[in-house]
This record gives sequence, structure tokens and C-alpha cells, in this order.
Amino acid sequence: MATVVFFHAHPDDEAIATGGTMASLADGGHRVVLVTATAGELGEAPDGLLDDGESLVDRRGKELAEACRILGVERHVGLGFRDSGMAGEETNRDPAAFAATDTEQAAHLLADLLVEEGAHVLVIYDEHGVYDHPDHIKVHEVGRRASDLAGTAVLYLATLDRDRVVALASASDRQLAESPHELDTMGVPGWRITTEVDVRPWIDRKRAAMAAHASQIAPDSFFLDMPPEVFSEVWGLEAYIRVRPEPARDVPTGRETSLVLAAGGPGADADSAEQVAERGS
Ligand SMILES: [Zn+2]
Repeated sequence: MATVVFFHAHPDDEAIATGGTMASLADGGHRVVLVTATAGELGEAPDGLLDDGESLVDRRGKELAEACRILGVERHVGLGFRDSGMAGEETNRDPAAFAATDTEQAAHLLADLLVEEGAHVLVIYDEHGVYDHPDHIKVHEVGRRASDLAGTAVLYLATLDRDRVVALASASDRQLAESPHELDTMGVPGWRITTEVDVRPWIDRKRAAMAAHASQIAPDSFFLDMPPEVFSEVWGLEAYIRVRPEPARDVPTGRETSLVLAAGGPGADADSAEQVAERGS
């Protein structure tokens, strides 16, 4: 069995970007570890959602704990950096902000954890953080360096298949991002995707994990406001780029379907998604 570490920027990213993959790995008997860079201090909660005396960080911590329970995360570690806010905001330059942090120092923190966990696989974001959020870009930079320091054998970049998302949006006339032009720069073009995990057997858990982040993802937001079959179509495939070991590009083998096949070792290919799904998830 493999130990797979997912490195995310804020609570809720784990569910949106990789929740189905996490649940499928956990059901397959793999150890799923989540590392978050920040507590998401700069998110905005709907008026009246927080209890008296409750901070947004308190609430987001509870939401994340619930999402981890739903997704089968065995261990969560917060690195304790501060949310940097959206691109271009003043808060990006706050010395405590993750985006302004020294990459080398942060990478050592993560590398120590990778070594302690004996991680086989590390998952970070693509080089522009999927949608250019400064904390997501920093996850990429810190994660890449940490995987070098720790000698982690398998490295994946979580991303979105832009071609697929654009096609889905135009076919359904459905809003799939904050604004339509955002889709043109989101994720990466389809040809760069090496790995696509079919998480439809785990889609109810992915949805529940996203809904657990109620301070950030309202039931009527474009993330969740769709019937189950549409949700499954939109969110049912999670896309990755395998960086290490480098995939053989000259062989037209199509996209691989699991993050642990490349990890090798005992149990890496033990259970296909179908086998695990048949056992009930
Ligand atoms: Zn985020």
C-alpha cells in the first residue's frame, strides 16, 4: 500500500480538486495524508453563519475536519502560514502570508513530513496553481522543492482539463466558474493531462466533503447547485500531470487512471477503482 500526501493551499481545495481521488485511495487501503499551507483566514463567510465568538478559522477548521472524515484522510497537518488573499491584493505582501514566505524554508517543513511519512506519492498543483491564486502557485513551488529534498519518488500536479471544462460549459450553458472568461485560463490544455481518475463511484462523498465547507461553498453556489447526475458529469473526473517518474510520451497509451500505479511496490496496483467500487464505498 502507498502513502499519498496531498498538499493544498486552503481548507476546501482538497475536496474540490482531489476529494474523489482521496476517497478512492483510502478505500483501496492506501494511507492518505493532507497537508494544508494556510487556515484560509481570508475567506469570506456568509453573514450570520458564524456562532457568537467563533472565528472564521475556527469554523474552517471544523469544516476541514469533517471533510477529512468523509474522505478517509488519516492525518491532517497544517503548516501554519497565513492566507495571502486573491491575486493582486495588498495581503499578498504580508510577511506572514504564504505567498511571501521563503520557499526553501517552507519546503524543508514539508520535506521533513514527507520523510517522516515515508511518502511514496506527493500531489501538488500545476505551475500556475490551476487558477493563478498566489497561495496555489506557492504550493507548486514549495511542493516541487520539498519533493526533491525528500527524494519522493512520484510527483503529480493536480489540475483541470481546460478543454473538457470549456466543452462542458458550452454544451450545458451552465456557469462553471466565477466568470466565463476564467475558464480560458483555468487548468491546462487537455494534451498535458497524463492521468485522469474516474471518481464517479465516490462522487457522493466528494459532494459531501465540498458541502462540509459551508462557509466557503454555499449550497446555491455554482459548485453545488446542480442535480446529482450533472454534478457527477462536471466533477466526476479528476485530472493530473505526472512529473515523476516522467511518463513515456512517445507511446500512445492514453491517460493512466490511478496515482499509485507509478509508485510501484506491494499493493500499488492491488485494487482498481471498479474493484473497490464493487465492494461498496
Ligand atoms: Zn485555495
